[in-house]
Amino acid sequence: MELYNLKKNQQRVSFSQAVKLGLGDNQGLFFPTEVPKLNDVNSLLEQDFVSRSVSILDAWLGDELGSDNVETMVRNAFNFPLAVTAVNAQTYALELTHGPTLAFKDFGARFMAQCLNLLCKGEKATILTATSGDTGAAVAHAFYGLDNIEVAVLYPKGKISVLQEKLFCTLGGNIHTYAVSGSFDDCQQLVKDSFDDLELKQAISLNSANSINISRLLAQICYYFEAVAQIPSDQRDNIVISVPSGNFGDLTAGLFAKAMGLPVKRFVAATNENDTVPRYLTTGQWQPQPTIATRANAMDVSAPNNWPRIEELFKTQGWDKALVSGVKVTETEMVKGLKDLYSQDYLCEPHGAIAAYALNETLTNDETGIFLCTAHPAKFQDSVEDILAIKLTLPQPLADVADKEILSEDIAADFSQLRQKLMAI
Ligand SMILES: *Cc1c(COP(=O)(O)O)cnc(C)c1O
Repeated sequence: MELYNLKKNQQRVSFSQAVKLGLGDNQGLFFPTEVPKLNDVNSLLEQDFVSRSVSILDAWLGDELGSDNVETMVRNAFNFPLAVTAVNAQTYALELTHGPTLAFKDFGARFMAQCLNLLCKGEKATILTATSGDTGAAVAHAFYGLDNIEVAVLYPKGKISVLQEKLFCTLGGNIHTYAVSGSFDDCQQLVKDSFDDLELKQAISLNSANSINISRLLAQICYYFEAVAQIPSDQRDNIVISVPSGNFGDLTAGLFAKAMGLPVKRFVAATNENDTVPRYLTTGQWQPQPTIATRANAMDVSAPNNWPRIEELFKTQGWDKALVSGVKVTETEMVKGLKDLYSQDYLCEPHGAIAAYALNETLTNDETGIFLCTAHPAKFQDSVEDILAIKLTLPQPLADVADKEILSEDIAADFSQLRQKLMAI
């Protein structure tokens, strides 16, 4: 697989290089020179999720990594269930929330861990990441127990819920967690400082596992095929998929699935009040505003970093603009959406509710709608209990850690202190 840098087209790299580098020169994103087309999508849709995912990822990576390796990686990464649930006759929920950390980020993080494990064979590597919740947990679980890979996760002390903290700070082993006295921005700054310190970077083979990594996007293509596969075949003609979006990695993966041959009529880019993309799609003006805090906080992103990939897909595939419509969902509308789903006996949470609400806004009678559920309701327990006036029971992964001890070290928002800790791992 060959990729080029969207900011410097003459920089060409292999998949292995792209995974290790993350970003290209001038902070450019890597984009594939060619999207593999699948010949017999219908028979692929008959297969089970894991077998089908092996075929999909083999089409991208088999040449470079070897088909046997791809198969092993997929089987190790996708070892948990996913589900499609009918909400009503016309609408389905794709539940990506049954992984070890109860969020869709498990798919991308677990596959990325498998890739780095293969590519770093024998060499030591250190993954450094900052998190406000979901990403850190998914990354920590994905890399837990892998030989030669150490993981350091920074998070703002006291600013994530105790259960979220317990989900990734109780693992131990090769997972090192640091509670930083400061904000999420301070944590991100510490990560940047670390990557700017070339001596440190070399000494511990620093790698980030952030959401622009191409390995995460490729993994996410697979569940779009599962969504369509689970829809009754007489309802597959006009499928619309609604994606709750923050950095727009998830939607990018959906569009790659379409480019590979998945029959989807159109997509809905659902955002919360951070609506840079819906505004851009109607006005043609890219004008990020200051970020607004909402209850769907994993989508509180005003300058989505995957958007250039979506632009490039439109350009290279020659798609019509109508393929993606942007819908902004306010907090009030999200609450309405969550209650509406609950009245149809479907328990959701703010991110999924935004996707469902946006879908409803645009769905016509001859279409079948699918919305993505990106987090388990229990991960947003306070909002869900408050809005629906109910009590949630904890799902197994959260119940399992509820009584465990947090193993994090407290550190100041001070690079020299972090540097010492990282050198000592
Ligand atoms: C990360 C995240 C999103 C946004 O996904 P992007 O790929 O960044 O658009 C949506 N919902 C949840 C629960 C998330 O954790």
